Amino acid sequence: MDDAYKAEGARIGSDAAETAKGADVVFKVRVPEVAEVAALPDGVALITLMDPFAIEPGLLDALNAKKIAALSMEFTPRISRAQSMDALSSQSNLAGYRAVIEGAQIYGRAMPMMMTAAGTIAPAKVFIMGVGVAGLQAIATARRLGAVVTATDVRPAAKEQVASLGAKFIAVEDEEFKAAETAGGYAKQMSPEYQAKQAELTASHITKQDIVITTALIPGRAAPVLVTEAMVKTMKPGSVIVDMAVSQGGNCPLSKSDEIVDVGGVKLAGFSNLPARLPADASSLFAKNLLAFLPLVTAETGALNLDTDDEIVTAMLLTRNGETVNDRVKS
Ligand code: NAD
Repeated sequence: MDDAYKAEGARIGSDAAETAKGADVVFKVRVPEVAEVAALPDGVALITLMDPFAIEPGLLDALNAKKIAALSMEFTPRISRAQSMDALSSQSNLAGYRAVIEGAQIYGRAMPMMMTAAGTIAPAKVFIMGVGVAGLQAIATARRLGAVVTATDVRPAAKEQVASLGAKFIAVEDEEFKAAETAGGYAKQMSPEYQAKQAELTASHITKQDIVITTALIPGRAAPVLVTEAMVKTMKPGSVIVDMAVSQGGNCPLSKSDEIVDVGGVKLAGFSNLPARLPADASSLFAKNLLAFLPLVTAETGALNLDTDDEIVTAMLLTRNGETVNDRVKS
């Protein structure tokens, strides 16, 4: 594998400190540990997934001590110009696809309707809860496999998108629903009253489903509980729930990270890192996301030149010149 990198002109360092020596910009995949920050040169621009809502104060201190400009990829704004940089989207898209493939595998029965001389096999019923980037790809994948697909979300914009993919939209469409999208395109936290109405609707629908894929997230908060223990117990043995929100607390309280839990024959699968199950595609898209940032942090000569007037940079910057500069992570 190293040879493939060398063939493209990369130098392979012996360790992190040696690799980063002399760098102006450091790209990473995951949030660095405090000890890793010590290996970075002073004053570099660091671009990576920073897990900003769970960041340790000690990490911010370590970054500030080295005057590192840390840019959090999770805060890439949802504007057209930043789409090529949006790693949450590129990875969610792959995760949504893979969730259906994993779900179908665990289900272990045919997905499409099959009319044969020996009888008819009914199509699998797939219900997608949360129709962001992952949910839309999950709908498209389940449809391609021949399933009958329904989907729900709290954002009204999702309704048309669901219909355009040939799935049926199911939701409590009250006044709160009509105002449930933030200016940034994310879902708002819904009221307990809305959640109760939503749970009633979900409860009657979910009993008839073969595969349920849950993707519902709210930035900076625990994932909403959408599938209760009581609902799981009404599902048919052999049916499957894939909880894509398991790392953020789960959309079902029974799901466990990287385990398949059996509840009366219903299988609950919680994959903490679905993109890692498509490693070549995940790496290729992530690398292209990173590359798209270069013009924002370097001059044409290649030297470090952080464009702090650019709204993409200001949205993503956590630390700079020894200070924490982002209100979303200041405690
Ligand atoms: P996300 O990962 O934050 O959440 C997944 C989905 O869960 C969202 O659709 C959300 O509305 C939904 N959800 C939250 N609470 C719910 C509940 N109680 N019940 C049901 N569903 C619930 O979402 P995302 O994938 O980041 O996408 C959010 C939106 O941003 C989408 O409309 C997406 O198309 C849009 N987007 C825009 C850009 C861009 O313009 N550059 C880039 C990426 C995504």
